[in-house]
Amino acid sequence: MAIHKTRMLIIGSGPAGLSAAIYGARAGMEPIVVQGLQPGGQLTITTDVENYPGFRDVIQGPWLMQEMEAQAVHVGTRMMWDTIVEVDIAGGSPFRAIGDSGDEYFGDVLVIATGAQAKWLGAPGEEALSGKGVSACATCDGFFYRGKKVAVIGGGNTAVEEALYLTNHSDDVTLIHRRDELRAERILQDRLFAHPKISVIWNRRVEEFLGDPAAGGLTGLRLIDTQDGSESTFECQGAFVAIGHAPATELFTGKLAMDGGYILVEPGTPKTSVPGVFACGDVMDHIYRQAVTAAGTGCMAALDAERFLAEREFAQGEAAE
Ligand code: FAD
Ligand code: NAP
Repeated sequence: MAIHKTRMLIIGSGPAGLSAAIYGARAGMEPIVVQGLQPGGQLTITTDVENYPGFRDVIQGPWLMQEMEAQAVHVGTRMMWDTIVEVDIAGGSPFRAIGDSGDEYFGDVLVIATGAQAKWLGAPGEEALSGKGVSACATCDGFFYRGKKVAVIGGGNTAVEEALYLTNHSDDVTLIHRRDELRAERILQDRLFAHPKISVIWNRRVEEFLGDPAAGGLTGLRLIDTQDGSESTFECQGAFVAIGHAPATELFTGKLAMDGGYILVEPGTPKTSVPGVFACGDVMDHIYRQAVTAAGTGCMAALDAERFLAEREFAQGEAAE
C-alpha cells in the first residue's frame, strides 16, 4: 500500500478528467488521474465519433481516448490503475481518497470526473440473462449476435446508434421505444428510418426478459403496450438496453451538495459546495452530456483549481509576513 501526493487529484479518465489533467499538468500541478474501471470512459464503448471538433473524417471513440491519455501523460500526468472506494472531503484540503488497491491519494485540490454509467430497466430476467443475451453495449457485445435477431430498447442517441451499429452483425434489428417519437438527433433518426435492416416498435415497454440463463439464454421479451396495456411477446436472441446513464456519484452522497443525483455546481463553474473540490463532465451535467462539453468543463475545473491554489498560497504568504 502506497501513499501518493499531488497538488491535483483527478478521479476519472474520460474526456473531462483527461482534459483537466492536460490543463493541470501544463499549469505545473503534476496531476494524478485515478482511472477507475473504465479507463478512457464512455467513449471507449462506442465506435464512430463524428461530432468531436477537429476531425473532418469519422474517428473511433477508443482511439480518441487513447490520444487524450497520451497527451495528458506527455505533459506530465501520472495515470493510476485504481478505483476510488472512499473519499474524505469534510476535513478540507488536502483531500484524501482511498483506492481499492489500498493505496491512499492526497490532493490539494480534488477534481471529480467520474462520469456516468448505463442504466438498466430492472425488469425480471434482465440481471439473470445479462451476458446471456442481455447487454448494455452493442459495440462490446454485438459481435456475439452475428446473424441473430436482436432488439434495442430506448429512444435516445445511444439507442439509435446501437441499432445502427448492430446492423453490422445482424440483418434483423428492432428498436423498441415506450413512446411514439424518439429523442435522438434528427440526423440519426433519418439514418435509422432509412435502414433496411431496422424496424421500430412504438409504444411498448419491456415487462420481462424471457429465457433460461442455464440453457440457451434470452429467447424473447414480454412487452406491454403503453397505450392500451395489452401484452405481446417479441422473439429475439439479443436485447440491448440503451435507456441512458446515471451519474457515478455514490462516493459523494452526503459529502457534497447534489441535484437529482448529479453533483451540484455553482452555475457556470465547476465549483462544488466544498472549496477546492471541482466537478466536471457528465457527473455534473444532466443536460448536454457530450464529449466536447465534458472536455470543456474539465478545462474549466483545471483553471479554477489553479486559481484556488494560487489564491490560497497568496493568502498563506500574506499571513506569514
Ligand atoms: P465518462 O466518459 O463517463 O468517464 C468517467 C470516468 O470516471 C471513467 O474513466 C471511469 O472509469 C471513472 N470512474 C468512475 N468512478 C470511479 C471511481 N470510483 N474511481 C476512479 N475512477 C472512476 N458524446 C459525444 O460527444 N459524441 C459521441 O459520438 C458520443 N457517443 C456516445 C456513445 C455511447 C455509447 C455513449 C454511452 C456515450 C456517447 N457520448 C458521445 C457521450 C460521451 O461519451 C460522454 O458525454 C463523455 O464520455 C462524458 O465524459 P466524462 O469524462 O464526464 O465521463
Ligand atoms: P437519453 O438521451 O437520456 O435517452 C434515454 C432514452 O431511453 C429515452 O428515449 C427514454 O425514453 C428511454 N428510457 C429511459 N428510461 C426508460 C425506461 N425505464 N424504459 C424504457 N425506456 C426508457 O440517453 P442516451 O441516449 O444514452 O444519451 C445520453 C447522452 O449522451 C445524451 O446527451 C446524448 O446526446 C449523448 N450521446 C450523444 C451521442 C452523439 O452525439 N452521437 C451518442 C450517444 C449519446 P423517453 O424518450 O420516453 O424519455
